[in-house]
Amino acid sequence: MSRFWSPVVHSLTPYVPGEQPKLDKLVKLNTNENPYPPSPRVLAAIQHELGADGDRLKLYSDPTGHALKAAVATRFGVPENWVFVGNSSDEVLAHTFQALLKHDAPLLFPDITYSFYPVYCGLYGIEFKTIPLDENFAIRVDDYLAPGAAQVGAVIFPNPNAPTGRLLPLAEIARLAAALPDSPIVVDEAYVDFGGVDSIPSAVALVREHPNVLVTQTLSKSRSLAGLRVGFAIGQPELIEALTRVKDSFNSYPLDRLALVGACAAIEDEAYFDQTRKQVIASREQLSQDLAGLGFEVLPSAANFVFARHPGRDAAQLAAALRERSIIVRHFKAARIDQFLRITVGTDAQCAQLVGALREILAT
Ligand SMILES: *Cc1c(COP(=O)(O)O)cnc(C)c1O
Repeated sequence: MSRFWSPVVHSLTPYVPGEQPKLDKLVKLNTNENPYPPSPRVLAAIQHELGADGDRLKLYSDPTGHALKAAVATRFGVPENWVFVGNSSDEVLAHTFQALLKHDAPLLFPDITYSFYPVYCGLYGIEFKTIPLDENFAIRVDDYLAPGAAQVGAVIFPNPNAPTGRLLPLAEIARLAAALPDSPIVVDEAYVDFGGVDSIPSAVALVREHPNVLVTQTLSKSRSLAGLRVGFAIGQPELIEALTRVKDSFNSYPLDRLALVGACAAIEDEAYFDQTRKQVIASREQLSQDLAGLGFEVLPSAANFVFARHPGRDAAQLAAALRERSIIVRHFKAARIDQFLRITVGTDAQCAQLVGALREILAT
């Protein structure tokens, strides 16, 4: 507290990210980063942009992010003015909250979800209402329609949801969007690329038919670039223009030169992307099976993490015991989920190390 603070700062409850410990030997399965390096083309593009002497860094980056928007537009088969790019999807989401989610009626999101959402509501003074997940930790669309369209300002949820990993089928999202045609529906697809082997269940497929649907994605998870900080949104131009207006009232150059070229290269290397995302999916299926074999209840995951609880062991104690063995996972103290662990899918070797450690812990 300080007399120098603006009133809003006194009222904020900031988001607390998972820890980023410095110890190299840790098996780090706590913040859903990709265990594989980014495409080699990312490194080549960044090195090319740096050149021999870094001379280009003296110049501002492209304020419009045109080349990256074009790459995203090509990848998803939409016009370029249906794409917004930002310095991480957290930033894209922040702009979305300010630009599209503040209305007379409350914003709805699940009771168990990405814990940044209420933080943005606090920052921007947005009234919100949480809708409980069902007893199987799934989103039930009818619960969002129950208040009546006039009572719903907007809706946001991750798909797959975090930290549960559960996927809402596209047909259900379409039903929600059609039933609330005057409310923005934001689908936060941070993990969607792990949602299917043969095809990716992205709601980008819905944006042509539903002018109220905005989809956000990030390069942090499926493209192994959490440290580069790049995210984007796809929707009809009316929605995109709102984001652009906020961005141009906030920071003209949110993406630096290295991020812009690196992100372009990552989006363009479809083969590498497909190979690593499929490897993560395969490892997730194995990990889920191994955890079930140890007696864990594992929610069906469509993400690069699993959410699991053991009927006989306290989750906080399990997390502490893993930490003693240099393995870190995420434990949330929140109601309904405080007996779960969220475990990021690592390499097969890391997953095996985790399973071995848990077997040892459970035997004591
Ligand atoms: C990781 C994550 C993000 C943020 O991604 P960044 O682009 O790294 O900011 C957004 N939404 C959800 C649900 C996430 O898990």
